[in-house]
Amino acid sequence: MEIKRRDFIKNFLILGGSLLFYPVSLRAEQKKGEVWHPAYEKLEKEGKFAQRVEQAYAMFEDCQLCPRRCGVNRLKGERGFCRAPARPVIFSSQPHFGEEISLVGKNGSGTIFFSNCNLRCIFCQNWPISHEGKGKIVQDEGLADIMIHLQKTGCHNINFVTPTHVMPNIINATRIALKKGLHLPLVYNTSGYERLEVLKILDGIMDIYMPDMKYMDADQAGKYSSGASDYPELAKKAITEMNRQVGELMTDKRGIAFRGLIIRHLVMPNRVAGTEKFVRWVAETLSKSTYVNIMPQYRVEYKAFEYPEIARGITVQEFLEAMGWAETYGLTNLDPHSVAVRDFYYRRRAT
Ligand code: SF4
Repeated sequence: MEIKRRDFIKNFLILGGSLLFYPVSLRAEQKKGEVWHPAYEKLEKEGKFAQRVEQAYAMFEDCQLCPRRCGVNRLKGERGFCRAPARPVIFSSQPHFGEEISLVGKNGSGTIFFSNCNLRCIFCQNWPISHEGKGKIVQDEGLADIMIHLQKTGCHNINFVTPTHVMPNIINATRIALKKGLHLPLVYNTSGYERLEVLKILDGIMDIYMPDMKYMDADQAGKYSSGASDYPELAKKAITEMNRQVGELMTDKRGIAFRGLIIRHLVMPNRVAGTEKFVRWVAETLSKSTYVNIMPQYRVEYKAFEYPEIARGITVQEFLEAMGWAETYGLTNLDPHSVAVRDFYYRRRAT
């Protein structure tokens, strides 16, 4: 049966809701009777946390927080490529139910959306936040209070969305929140455009890394992400380092993630995202059981209309092709939502 693009999007949204009841199989690896502590709590006990905050804050003076390496003094009010000040600008914070099932659980992922971005893709799905910097400036103490509030609401984690340019504020706020009783795992939800030196500061603070892997080709990255043609090489190195720090995704007996790596890959029209190369790289460099979310929800946003190659949504065939490559290269820990969407279309094809 032929499936039109409009049907594909409609069915994808329906499946998003119905998946709450889908019998998914997640890896439950927390040992029985073991009391879990977040990584940053151990770092504080070892007396190493304060030094990391200092080290991170020093990077604001000659900003080298991301591969753009602007060298501006953000503490003196200068702004670099990301246009961010030295205080976090927050667009919103709330329990979020649209993230991966193992982050959402019953009460949601405690998501904090930071404004501004160091990558600025021309198809950005959050462009009013990332490109225009809409939001409210808070102090680090205020950010810590938001984290505590999300914890009191029952969220299963604190999920920092687009965190790279405000990493020093995040870890300072985490230390303040720890003293107020924070005990949730932290999720570093990043575009993947990161420096190894900066990730080393986060070693022992983040429990869950959730990077994107947007493209595998330098020309595509340069064209669609504001000249960042070094994205594929740097993101591969960054993800390898994240994997070294936290390893494969682990969940508790409820299926809630508490540590590990989740890689997101958005399938783009006309194979722009290089999905085949991506899944092969994961299988050969990391592990076939790495948690990978191959996402079908590409939308034509912001300036994507000006680029014919990506000025349409993806087709069912493109999504099934992407999932087929994951199967071919032996990936075994695919996001259950993507698997449900794939299986739905396989069944539709068979009828
Ligand atoms: S975080 Fe912003 S100012 Fe700093 S190097 Fe990156 S883009 Fe430039």
